[in-house]
Amino acid sequence: MRTIGLLGGMSWESSGLYYRLLNEGVRDELGGLHSARCVLLSVDFADIAELQEAGDWARAGEVLAADARSLQAAGADLVLLCTNTMHTVADAVTAGLDVPLLHIGDSTAEAITAAGLTRIGLLGTRYTMEQPFLVDRLTAAGLDVVVPEAADRELVHRVIYDELVLGVVREESRRAYGEVVDRLVARGAQGVILGCTEIELLIGPGDVDVPTFPTTALHVAAAVRAALAGDASAPPPTIDG
Ligand code: GLU
Repeated sequence: MRTIGLLGGMSWESSGLYYRLLNEGVRDELGGLHSARCVLLSVDFADIAELQEAGDWARAGEVLAADARSLQAAGADLVLLCTNTMHTVADAVTAGLDVPLLHIGDSTAEAITAAGLTRIGLLGTRYTMEQPFLVDRLTAAGLDVVVPEAADRELVHRVIYDELVLGVVREESRRAYGEVVDRLVARGAQGVILGCTEIELLIGPGDVDVPTFPTTALHVAAAVRAALAGDASAPPPTIDG
């Protein structure tokens, strides 16, 4: 099994979900007492959020690239950046690594394409909905992306930063998100990307009428596949290693 490096803390609420899903995924694949080999570097989110607000993406890229290199030095064979938003600096992170960074947009696009959908709604932070880094990646994969109108973008963003990253899950926000999704569906969206790693803590398949694409779960599934790939051909472990 390859060692998965998790660059998390953005926020730790979703990193907790990553850790649980990763271990469940490996257990489901291998059974018994198996669990994921992983290393976690969890940042202080306040530092990152400050750089986001200042629009200092270059500095954020330097910080996360250095942290990703630390994960590699700690034995990671592949790295997950456990946030959609900070994939805005994915190129800077990748440039500093010798091991692969599994891009969250790729696992998301694959799942949508496999489901046979082409026009897809996107919920996420303001950065994710308004900057091109994720939308362009999805578009390049053949998808037509619908983002909420300005007022809805504001609402979705506010709920993430004022509630979800702080572990606050409110029924009222669940309903409000459902209404945002309804408006995306009215504009032709056949499904919706939960394009912020905390959103799946708020809404699930039962809360909206169209298929949902939870980016944390999909990212984890891709990591489990990558970590176990080639496992079948690997020699069985021996007692002396
Ligand atoms: N976890 C969120 C995301 O997936 C937002 C927090 C962040 O800005 O990294 O975009």
